[in-house]
Amino acid sequence: MTIPLTISNITKSHLCISCGICSGISDSDHIKLEYRMAQGMYYPRISDTISKAEHQKLISFCPGKGYPIKEMGDSLFYDADNYTMELGHWQEASAVRSTDLTIQKNASSGGIMTSIAQFLLSEGLVGGVIVTKIDYTGGGPRTLSYIATSKRELLLAQGSKYCPVPVLEILKDIYNFPGALAFIGTPCQIAGIRLIQKEDSILKNKIRYTIGNFCGGFRDFRETNAIIQRAGIALDRVASFRYRGGGQPGSMEIIDKSGRKVLLKYPDYARLTGYVKHVRCRLCVDATAELADFCCGDAWISRFLKTGKAWSILIIRSPKNIAIIHRMKQTSAIETAALTYDEILSSQKQNIISKKIRQAARRRFMRLVGCRVPDFDGGYSLIAGNILLELWVYIKYTLSEWSEKIMLYPLLAKYLRRNDNVRL
Ligand SMILES: Cc1cc2nc3c(=O)[nH]c(=O)nc-3n(C[C@H](O)[C@H](O)[C@H](O)COP(=O)(O)OP(=O)(O)OC[C@H]3O[C@@H](n4cnc5c(N)ncnc54)[C@H](O)[C@@H]3O)c2cc1C
Repeated sequence: MTIPLTISNITKSHLCISCGICSGISDSDHIKLEYRMAQGMYYPRISDTISKAEHQKLISFCPGKGYPIKEMGDSLFYDADNYTMELGHWQEASAVRSTDLTIQKNASSGGIMTSIAQFLLSEGLVGGVIVTKIDYTGGGPRTLSYIATSKRELLLAQGSKYCPVPVLEILKDIYNFPGALAFIGTPCQIAGIRLIQKEDSILKNKIRYTIGNFCGGFRDFRETNAIIQRAGIALDRVASFRYRGGGQPGSMEIIDKSGRKVLLKYPDYARLTGYVKHVRCRLCVDATAELADFCCGDAWISRFLKTGKAWSILIIRSPKNIAIIHRMKQTSAIETAALTYDEILSSQKQNIISKKIRQAARRRFMRLVGCRVPDFDGGYSLIAGNILLELWVYIKYTLSEWSEKIMLYPLLAKYLRRNDNVRL
């Protein structure tokens, strides 16, 4: 029997990514996003009085359920010279870093996302940029999305947020903004925007540029909270928090209200808890933000890492946006270096293997154990793959989360010496 596609079934199947699109687009009070502590996620609460038509509309825009990534990419970037299953459509790619010292200071890698946003603002190509900063609540750090209209506001939002981000909850502010906008976000948030833009010319004209990050997925807020507490800091004492920064690979930084600072190595801090990547992220097929205009990731390439400077990879998908990056280079806003296609692939190897190569077997396995999987029209290899490997990973993940649930993980981690050398 097929389970009907409803918002609450999307949530129950762990396909909801907390993007907030359903509550952001809804023109009634029938749907609200609320934080659920037990899952560490923001999930929609729907009132029984929602009409069938409105429910269907919300589902059609939900990126969590999946979307025709190939068809949407073909239509958005019909003018791109290249398409590969691994990277999607692309016109040009290079290694890039911001030359602006204030941008470099708090960037996750080369500061290219913030540099492009700053350039679009300063050239008057947009009046604002949708960005996301860390917000301090009594229950630990969360995120706050807003429209930045100045460099100062862009800088406040720098740094990757490896957590659920309900950025599309501010859709009404986006519609009401008097001018053109750029959007910075993850591949799935950008897919949500594109799904609306297909139907709505107002949003299509409003959001002129999208800047997406390469994405390996996120863990929910239970991980963030547990790491902070295991660093000896109470959640309501956090004064400053970043998932990553201070060079490449950089570190998580937690500062409490008395000024005590804890630095944890990125990405090694993931070993401090048994929480695993969100289910929907494991079923995602987009490694490099295939529906975004400008796509930015880390240059995990030894010749760049050796420079001691943080470099990003930038993919420009459409020829019409190349002039923007060339102007940034001419005005010395950025420094660029040539990259080969193979270097990009090898720098994102783990992510591409997981999202593109192992995906068919993983989806088959998840269906076998009765899980709903998001619907894509391709974008990953259809070669059958090794279902036993997926079974093994599933068991490992389940045991890991289960050890957290019964509070055994910290002891296990100590015994297995998983926590060694994580602090800087
Ligand atoms: C969840 C996640 C997974 C990632 N996985 C990979 C990966 O597997 N491989 C890889 O190479 N790179 C990955 N990245 C990208 C990488 O972390 C950097 O964001 C990227 O290299 C750009 O760095 P930057 O210095 O240009 O960005 P910065 O100048 O630091 O700017 C980052 C911008 O992104 C916005 N932002 C950050 N996180 C979010 C979020 N979750 N939702 C919405 N907006 C956000 C901020 O508001 C800011 O405007 C990931 C990023 C995220 C958020």
